[in-house]
Amino acid sequence: MEARAAYIHIPFCVRKCAYCDFLSFPSCVDQIPEYVEALCREIGLSEKFWGENKSELTSVYFGGGTPSLLSPLQVKTILDSLRRVFSLSKDCEITLEANPGTIDEGKLLGFREAGVNRLSLGIQSLDDSVLATLGRIHNAAAARQAIYDAKKAGFQNISCDMMLGIPGQSQDAVASTLEFFLREGIPHISLYSLILEEGTPMYVRYGGDIEKYVSQEQDRAMYHYVVNTLKENGFAHYEISNMGRPGFESRHNMMYWRAENYYAFGLGAHYYLGDERGTHKAATVKEYITSFDADGKPGEVVKDDIYEAEEKLTIDDQKKEFMMLAFRTGKGAEVQVFEKRFGCSVESAFGEELEKEIQSGLVEKTEGGYRLTEKGFDLANQVFGDYV
Ligand code: SF4
Repeated sequence: MEARAAYIHIPFCVRKCAYCDFLSFPSCVDQIPEYVEALCREIGLSEKFWGENKSELTSVYFGGGTPSLLSPLQVKTILDSLRRVFSLSKDCEITLEANPGTIDEGKLLGFREAGVNRLSLGIQSLDDSVLATLGRIHNAAAARQAIYDAKKAGFQNISCDMMLGIPGQSQDAVASTLEFFLREGIPHISLYSLILEEGTPMYVRYGGDIEKYVSQEQDRAMYHYVVNTLKENGFAHYEISNMGRPGFESRHNMMYWRAENYYAFGLGAHYYLGDERGTHKAATVKEYITSFDADGKPGEVVKDDIYEAEEKLTIDDQKKEFMMLAFRTGKGAEVQVFEKRFGCSVESAFGEELEKEIQSGLVEKTEGGYRLTEKGFDLANQVFGDYV
C-alpha cells in the first residue's frame, strides 16, 4: 500500500472549548499512557492490516484533541513505533498541534528533541474577550508566551490558527492579532470562520444562528483583510484557509488536497488507502485501548475487527473528489496531474461543469489547468456542489 503520510489522533483535551465538536474527551487525561501503548500496538499491526510498506513517510501529523498534552517521551515512543514499521524520510515533516495552555519552553524543547519539526499553535485570537467567548483554556498573554517559547525552543516552522467571525470580535482585534503574528515572523497561518456546530454550548448560546450576531459581510470583510494583509507581506494564499511564506506550506495538508493516500492511527482517525476511506470502529477511549486484545490474543486481531470502511470510491467518485480538493488550493486542478492519474482529460470528464463555472466567474483557466477566482474562493461551496 503506497502512502507517504500518517495522521495520529490524540483525543484528549483539558476542557472542551465552547464551539468544538471534534472528537476529544476532556475527562480522561489519565488514560493517556494506556492510549499511547494502544496506538503503538495499532501502528505495529499496520503491516498485517495494510500489507508490507516500501514507501517512505514524508509527513507525520499529530492532531487532536490536544496532542501537546502528551509528554515529549510519549511523542518519541510513537515516532519510534512508526520507524519500526515504516521508514521516515530524512526531511520528514513532523507536525504537532499544541494548545498554548499546555506548553512551556522546556516541553517544546522536548518535542523538538523527540523529532517534531513543525508546530501548529491553536492561538485563535490575541484578544482576551474573544478567547473567553470561545471558552479557550488560555488567555492572550499565554498565547503570546507560547509563540515566544516556541521560537526559543528553536522552532522555525510555526503555524498559528486564527479564528474569524466570532460574536464581539472587532476588526481591530483581528488586525492586532495579525500584526503580532507578522512581527514575530510566523511563516504560516490557518484561517477559520466560526461555525456553530449543533450540540455545542455556543450553538445553544446563539440559538444556532450566527448570522444574527456576525453577518456574512462582516465575516468576509475580516477574511479579506487578513488575506490581503498577508499577501502584501509575502504570503501565498495556497489553500482557501491557509496562507504561508514560500516553503512553509503544510506538506501534510497538501497531500490531503492532492487526494493522496494516508494512514491514520488512533481513535476516530480517518484513513484513505487505495480506494477505501474508513475509520476505527471503537467509539470511546476505553474501547480503543482494548480493541487490539482480541480476548487477550493480540496476534489474532484482524483488520475487519478494528476498522470500518466508510466508503469505497469508484473511479468517478475519485475524479470528483480530485476536483473538489484541487479547487481548495491556489494552484487548482492541474490538467497533467489529472490525466496521469485517471488516463483521460479533465475536459472530457468535467467540460460542462468547467464551462458553467468559467461563465459565472467562479473558475478561471490557467497555464496548467483551472482554479477558483477570488469570487470563487468566496463562493467555493457553489463550485464544490458541482462535484458531489
Ligand atoms: S482544544 Fe481544540 S480539540 Fe480541544 S476542545 Fe478546544 S477546539 Fe476542541
